[in-house]
Amino acid sequence: KDFRNKVKPNWCPGCGDFSVLAAMQRAFANQGLEPEDVAIVSGIGCSGRISGYVNAYGFHGVHGRALPIAQGLKLANRDLTVVAAGGDGDGFAIGMGHTIHAIRRNVDITYIVMDNQVYGLTKGQTSPRSEMGFKTKSTPKGSIEATIAPMEMALTAGAGFVAQAVSSDLKQLTRLVEEGLKHKGFSLINVYSPCVTYNKVNTYDWFKEHLVNLDDEEGYDPSNRMQAMQKLMEHNGLVTGLIYQNKERKAYEELIPGFDEKPLAKQDLKINKEQFEELVAEFA
Ligand code: SF4
Ligand code: MG
Repeated sequence: KDFRNKVKPNWCPGCGDFSVLAAMQRAFANQGLEPEDVAIVSGIGCSGRISGYVNAYGFHGVHGRALPIAQGLKLANRDLTVVAAGGDGDGFAIGMGHTIHAIRRNVDITYIVMDNQVYGLTKGQTSPRSEMGFKTKSTPKGSIEATIAPMEMALTAGAGFVAQAVSSDLKQLTRLVEEGLKHKGFSLINVYSPCVTYNKVNTYDWFKEHLVNLDDEEGYDPSNRMQAMQKLMEHNGLVTGLIYQNKERKAYEELIPGFDEKPLAKQDLKINKEQFEELVAEFA
């Protein structure tokens, strides 16, 4: 199935978000999904446009609010494969409350963060993922705030699936998106997705020099949470691969009494047409 549509992305040439788009489209196809099986909910930011670039259901939400919409959608119709997507500002600043609670709630959705360590859409301000000393229009003398460590944060919040990738490695990125889709429960995939226009520090070359690929680490066991935390701290979060996965933890919806019934969106209304119209009139 082709998950590409005819909309031409208006990202800057070289933007890391292109790889995330390609990885998503490939992962859906590789998993044998149909466009009508998939819904993508995005937030605000350059990356938020991604929901319009995939041949599937798309919903471009408001800033920091992709996750509540995505979780609601999944709970109403769990037959859909639901992916939430957004940037580091969207997910780790204004949307951080939702991110932490989505992690501990564990609804079966996949959350892909395009982490460029800057606010791109508003033309280059410091984001919660910018490093100390990062100079932008909003921090002309360099940022004096510490950066958020999203992977460590996810581990401590009880995440069942934590992975990190980089836009330059499309093969690993696609594989991790597929693993995230297959995981039963909330999966967080943070993607180092360079902003070639406003972040001249964390570039493709910079990542090449600094990232450690867990796929090459002999004996690394992603079911070991302690080891996962140790690796992250050892490399200051600069790792790619499947960092942690807990296959035992049940998804939120599996714990709902009556889970075996049809998804809410597919259940009969159990009222007739007149009663339905009365109900609608009451709320009109
Ligand atoms: Fe990508 Fe940065 Fe351009 Fe936005 S401003 S499209 S994040 S390169
Ligand atoms: Mg950003």
